Amino acid sequence: MSANQPPPLVDYNLFEADAPLREAFEREGASWAHDLVRDLGSLAGTQQAIDWGFQANANPPQLRTHDRFGNRIDEVEFHPAWHELMHVAIGHGLHALPWREPRAGAHVARAAAFYIWSQVEGGHGCPVSMTYAAVPALRQQPRLAQQWEPLMTTLDYDPGLRPPATKRGVLFGMAMTERQGGSDVRTNTTQAVPTGSNGEHLVTGHKWFCSAPMCDAFLVLAQAPGGLSCFLLPRVLPDGTRNGFHIERLKDKLGNRSNASSEVAFEDAWALLVGEEGKGVRTIIEMVNHTRLDCIIGSASLMRQAVAQATHHTAHRKAFGKLLSEQPLMVNVLADIAVESEATTLLMMRLARAFDQADDPNEAEFRRIGVALGKFWTCKRAVAVVAEALECHGGNGYVEESILPRLYREAPLNSIWEGSGNVNALDVLRAMQREPATVSAYLAEVELALGQNAAFDKAVDELKRNMSNSQDAESRARLLVERMAVLLEGSLLLRHGDQIVTELFVSSRIAGNWGHTFGTLDPGPGLKSVLEQHRPRLD
Ligand SMILES: Cc1cc2nc3c(=O)[nH]c(=O)nc-3n(C[C@H](O)[C@H](O)[C@H](O)COP(=O)(O)OP(=O)(O)OC[C@H]3O[C@@H](n4cnc5c(N)ncnc54)[C@H](O)[C@@H]3O)c2cc1C
Repeated sequence: MSANQPPPLVDYNLFEADAPLREAFEREGASWAHDLVRDLGSLAGTQQAIDWGFQANANPPQLRTHDRFGNRIDEVEFHPAWHELMHVAIGHGLHALPWREPRAGAHVARAAAFYIWSQVEGGHGCPVSMTYAAVPALRQQPRLAQQWEPLMTTLDYDPGLRPPATKRGVLFGMAMTERQGGSDVRTNTTQAVPTGSNGEHLVTGHKWFCSAPMCDAFLVLAQAPGGLSCFLLPRVLPDGTRNGFHIERLKDKLGNRSNASSEVAFEDAWALLVGEEGKGVRTIIEMVNHTRLDCIIGSASLMRQAVAQATHHTAHRKAFGKLLSEQPLMVNVLADIAVESEATTLLMMRLARAFDQADDPNEAEFRRIGVALGKFWTCKRAVAVVAEALECHGGNGYVEESILPRLYREAPLNSIWEGSGNVNALDVLRAMQREPATVSAYLAEVELALGQNAAFDKAVDELKRNMSNSQDAESRARLLVERMAVLLEGSLLLRHGDQIVTELFVSSRIAGNWGHTFGTLDPGPGLKSVLEQHRPRLD
């Protein structure tokens, strides 16, 4: 160590170092996948993997619209580090584990693996997540699923635009958002004209956001004669020619810079109907449900990496004669963000189990409402936690090499895509109004912790009163949904959490003994143990 600078946080196992994750992993039924996530945790801590993350972001993708002869090619070129990250992600089944091994705990195992590997780099998670999520939507058209699923679920990353049947593995994206509206997809104007039997259509129009446009195929929303419908649109046609899918430009984004997000135009693009004509939203919502889970996992992952970096840095940096991690006010800040991170990890793993058990009607109802409220809340918290963790590093945190700037730029994105904050909060209201069984399922889960803590019990009573008050419901939605999420996290912690973390969570977030910034926990001897538990140890 030199000049009071910490050693790099490298060569540690991101799974082994994460006690809340390990415990949730066992509890929620994924112990059979232990070796997979432990190996991934080890790889994620290597200098090699960390370098890939930096290189893929320092060298963002480039659009090549035409070849040297002026022919349209619509290719995106990536730095080799991107391909390395993708190789690992696909090779470990982060895009397909539950479809390859449909057994209890498969979504939980994948959630843990996706959370670990996303800590290395967030951008490449986008096509990985969309490929994972496209499978359940595609299954609504069994003929198409039979054809595509085997290719979507191999462990081979095989980039490049070629006829799908000739590839060892394919990736999927989605194109819903148009210039005039992303939240309200009913305003979509892209047209799909039927051309014959078997659901064949020609699609013409424009999409304002289409991430990972180098994917092999997309689920696309377009207006068919019977209304807004979902289509499978491949980039390359079976005869090897390019489909009418043109990438107009790549977006210059705040963060997520390793990943390509584009504007695309469809020109008589050949596509096949998925699901019922006119029921496009209902069809693609199956995909959106799964990508929303990944927004929660992504947020948990950002928080965990930020807390790991901050607890590590402050354990090696001195100010005013003491390590920062010994300064009482810094201990309070670190413990507070660690509490938030732990609560998010527990929630993410519980929600992943609801995906595993979705055949059980109660779990399906719980999943319906839990994902919406979980996405709203955890994505919001990620922004605040990462900002605070960045500040724990002082000036070093503002410098790219620390990784914190990258985490900070990535953090708001999970809240925007797959339904922005308000849209998710309103979705919780919609579930409550149209599917009252979701409320029962939510309350049944929360109430499992009743009788353990008076402040929690009182807050649940109060929440129930608020839930039944429909006056100004839309305007109050954020407050209500936030409270629902916090009480769900509180319930999980009371049943399964570390005792000190649980006490701190309940007294601050539920009983209200807390300020408006992190670092305002009620002081006590337990704070130090929280950050010690969250600090990764170098071997
Ligand atoms: C990096 C990136 C990549 C993306 N990749 C894709 C992709 O691959 N495919 C794709 O289809 N889309 C993609 N998107 C688009 C994304 O899903 C949309 O941006 C998002 O759904 C919001 O739509 P919008 O941008 O049109 O905002 P708007 O719909 O105009 O919403 C603006 C704001 O208004 C709020 N709002 C909307 N309705 C209401 C209401 N009734 N009450 C209160 N508030 C409301 C929203 O919450 C939001 O905060 C991507 C976006 C980003 C930033």
